[in-house]
Amino acid sequence: MHSNETWTPTQEDIEWTKKVVKGLVSGQDWMEGEMAFRKTGEEELTLLTRTERAYLALERVQTILEIIGWHLKTDTAKIIPDDPQAAAEAIQDEVQGWVCPACKEVHVVDMDLENVRWKEMGNTVYVDEEGNSMEQDRWVVAVTCACKEELFLSPDDYYLAAGDINFYRWIYEDNGKTWVARALSNEEIIARVDETKPSLVWKYGNDQHLGTTFQGSTVPPHMRGTYCTFSRLTAGEEEE
Ligand SMILES: [Zn+2]
Repeated sequence: MHSNETWTPTQEDIEWTKKVVKGLVSGQDWMEGEMAFRKTGEEELTLLTRTERAYLALERVQTILEIIGWHLKTDTAKIIPDDPQAAAEAIQDEVQGWVCPACKEVHVVDMDLENVRWKEMGNTVYVDEEGNSMEQDRWVVAVTCACKEELFLSPDDYYLAAGDINFYRWIYEDNGKTWVARALSNEEIIARVDETKPSLVWKYGNDQHLGTTFQGSTVPPHMRGTYCTFSRLTAGEEEE
């Protein structure tokens, strides 16, 4: 396992990494292969997550960061097992264990995971082989604990805790009213097409595809291109 001790980065590797990390602003994420880093300080990165098999790739990043004088924190990183079954189990165990950081009592899986808000917060940088960086908005899901604390989950974490039915629901405000868009499954879309008589116009006038913006709100990426049904949300309850 120590084959990496002989590995020395090329000048190109060093320059490329330097360019990437220096381009990051505080709090920004950098995805590299099967590793995710965040800039957490002046010349400091924190490893957020990596796969088990990415240990060698990580050692290489670490070697380069040492050369350019950057610090890397790895002690809080989530390590995803390579075996898919083990990975799924480890993730589920972890999800069940998440508790509110404020009251330290309520488990995230027991929170109101239906009435959440999608928000854009910062961005993530992806860098290709040529060193071209692309920025992507980083979305978070705001969940409110019974103790009133607002928690921000990554979309992936929210999906794991809340399941796909909640994941494909998007609550937004328009003209002082709260609406919920729910993405129809393929089966539902087919059923609706079958219900519609050929001579009639589309029966559900409210249903439509979402683009990048809708009624003045930016649509979260996973909802773009979905076919949705809409309802009013009053006091946390959906109305038909
Ligand atoms: Zn709480």
